[in-house]
Amino acid sequence: MLWWSIVILAIFLIGLTKSGFGSGAGLMIAPMTTFAMAHIPKYGTDAALGLLLPLLMVGDFIAIWQYRRLLSMKIVRRLLPGTIIGVVLGSLLLRWFVRQQKEVAEALVNIDIGFESVFLVLLHFYRVWRASGNLPPYVPRIWRSFLVGAFAGISSTIAHAAGPIISLHLLPQRLERGMFVGTCALYFFLMNALKLPAYYQVGLFEKISPQLAMMFVPLVIVGALVGYLVNRRINDRIFTNTLYVITFALGWYILAKGGIQLRLQIRGGAMSSSSTKVALVTGASRGIGRAITIELANCGFDCVINYLRNADAANEVKQAVESAGQRGHLVQADVGESADRRRLVDESYNAFGRVDLLVNNAGIAPDARVDILEAGEESFDRVIKVNLKGPYFLSQLVAQKMIVGSASADRPKIITISSVSAYAASTNRGEYCIAKAGLSMMTKLYAARLAEFGINVYEIRPGIIETDMTGPVKAKYDKLILEQDLTPIHRWGKPEDVANAVAAIATDRLPFSTGEVINVDGGFHLRRL
Ligand code: NDP
Repeated sequence: MLWWSIVILAIFLIGLTKSGFGSGAGLMIAPMTTFAMAHIPKYGTDAALGLLLPLLMVGDFIAIWQYRRLLSMKIVRRLLPGTIIGVVLGSLLLRWFVRQQKEVAEALVNIDIGFESVFLVLLHFYRVWRASGNLPPYVPRIWRSFLVGAFAGISSTIAHAAGPIISLHLLPQRLERGMFVGTCALYFFLMNALKLPAYYQVGLFEKISPQLAMMFVPLVIVGALVGYLVNRRINDRIFTNTLYVITFALGWYILAKGGIQLRLQIRGGAMSSSSTKVALVTGASRGIGRAITIELANCGFDCVINYLRNADAANEVKQAVESAGQRGHLVQADVGESADRRRLVDESYNAFGRVDLLVNNAGIAPDARVDILEAGEESFDRVIKVNLKGPYFLSQLVAQKMIVGSASADRPKIITISSVSAYAASTNRGEYCIAKAGLSMMTKLYAARLAEFGINVYEIRPGIIETDMTGPVKAKYDKLILEQDLTPIHRWGKPEDVANAVAAIATDRLPFSTGEVINVDGGFHLRRL
């Protein structure tokens, strides 16, 4: 509830700042929303940006309407050519950074904008003082508007931080305050519209339904009415000085934020040069993933511990990793969601600067076992999304990073935990079998593609393992294993059996094998006469 309250406040501020003070004053909105939504499991940080963009455009649109008689088309026209080029460049950089070092670029852009904001505000007051309070209005040349537009376009697309640049471009022109606010709104509306395709392409809207965004629109409208009233009631001098103060304060804020981001990156870089290998294990909070993570820590790996809901269990695993003398880093992320996968990889590299081993372990069983002649599409979509699409695209993201670092890394690896269900037909859980069969082909594909980069890829096929997943069918398998000779080795598999196989690969015991399947199933796969 607390986190949603912060989101609600931030969205109210969209209307208030856009209709009251122009877009620059709302620079805190994105950090507030991102911070709050990072704590709401279903959404996360990327969803915040996807939610904000349409609402910011609604706020711009209302302000354009409120100040429709006061807009300066001339100023916007002069800014636009540079802005279009800036947004195109920013979009290309965004696409590239999503795969590479987005954080470094964002940190540098923030430091630059923060520094400029602080410096230009100080310069302005120095000039006012030199002119004994009578500074004449300033009319920018065309080339200057072009450059401001280009810089605003790039920084808005990468870091959502063009507000101070535009405020400091408009304020010295001494526009009437309604014209200042309306012109800002028109300009940012067009800029935000230009950013839509790039944001869509990198998947920032995936978690945001139109209904969710629509729900918040009334809040933006109320904020806009309050902002409009405030704007009407204050005088020009207070209005201008307020904006300079806000820009100055936000300038410091962005500068500090950029500095912290850069320090984290440098620390990450320093870590990447450390010789400790790093494993990223999905679904590491319970069952097989938990055992794998603890075993990898025993083998000397630092571990990224991914989980979906069970933060307490994940924390216990982190403590076990630390007891083994290694570093653990928790990342809540749904491997079935594209934005979460990207964040998982970003946070792993932010924490440790490298990933040497990806273990695709997270997986779910169908909610109910239903005959394939009756089973519905909903369960099929859910199981395929988490068990197949998730590992397929997570492997892609990590492989891209591994390729970039492969020259310096020591034989990175990808291991996927499939199941005997990759080949054993269970007609009452077809979706699970199909997902696991898909993982077998996925292993072959990545093994063939990544061998040239020195990256080996393996599939581990567990049999029946005693975990929460098999809890509901324990009685059935007790009978099959212990009484009816289902497996030549008459016992349940333990998560540690799978973890030992992972450890053998992780410690380089199979360097001349790739695309290999390792059965950890008590001999279930043997055909017997
Ligand atoms: P469990 O149900 O015991 O644990 C599942 C783990 O995956 C938990 O850590 C859970 O996190 C996490 N998880 C679930 N959904 C997601 C998601 N969408 N995103 C990220 N994490 C998620 O399962 P097992 O340990 O038994 O199974 C692990 C893997 O082994 C699965 O892929 C399964 O198919 C496979 N397997 C299992 C066998 C068995 O007999 N148990 C046999 C053959 C294969 P949280 O704790 O937060 O819920």
